[in-house]
Amino acid sequence: MLVEDGETTLVVDAGPDFRQQMLRAGVKNLDALLITHEHKDHLAGLDDVRAFNFLQKKHIPIYGLPRVLERIQVEYAYAFAEKKYPGVPQLDLYPATEAFFEFGSIKVWPIPVMHARLPVLGYRFGNFTYITDANHIGPEAREIIRGSDFLVLNALQKEPHISHFTLEEAIGVARELEVPNVYFTHMSHKMGRHKLIEKELPPGIQLAWDGLIIRTS
Ligand SMILES: [Zn+2]
Ligand SMILES: [Zn+2]
Repeated sequence: MLVEDGETTLVVDAGPDFRQQMLRAGVKNLDALLITHEHKDHLAGLDDVRAFNFLQKKHIPIYGLPRVLERIQVEYAYAFAEKKYPGVPQLDLYPATEAFFEFGSIKVWPIPVMHARLPVLGYRFGNFTYITDANHIGPEAREIIRGSDFLVLNALQKEPHISHFTLEEAIGVARELEVPNVYFTHMSHKMGRHKLIEKELPPGIQLAWDGLIIRTS
């Protein structure tokens, strides 16, 4: 998920398709990566940040929970070795806690939510909130989200799951938060066909798709 305001470009997570996604979207500049959590479907593309190091001739800042930054240093140990092989990704790690911070021209509110027993981060940028891989959003996190005009939220499938909202649960959260424009993401193939599921959704809620562009102003 890429956020840009004409000045600053941020990307949330670098899954296995990161390289292909950046090529498809024609992304030439990346100012920072914000990581939600360390699961491979959110992190496996991190090595391809090196293309941006090469193009922009600078290190790329990576924000995440301290636990997640530790995992990155283990799983991509070669990028943090004292003597580095030429061409490895150049990553600068910064802890994102629960405090608001500004990156370039973009204001970022990390939102702590739960993915079964794993704390993960969602992020709010202005009137837009992005939450993936959650199945519990506590009262404090709900207060940060409230007032957003746009919400992207995970909805895995109709059947119960230990660490993701089901379709019904996600609809319940979207309604409770009263965000007018909601898009579901992180859908499993078990969800059913896009066109059929969309017919079941209340007004203001839709399924997201690859390449979706949301203009927030
Ligand atoms: Zn996950
Ligand atoms: Zn995931």
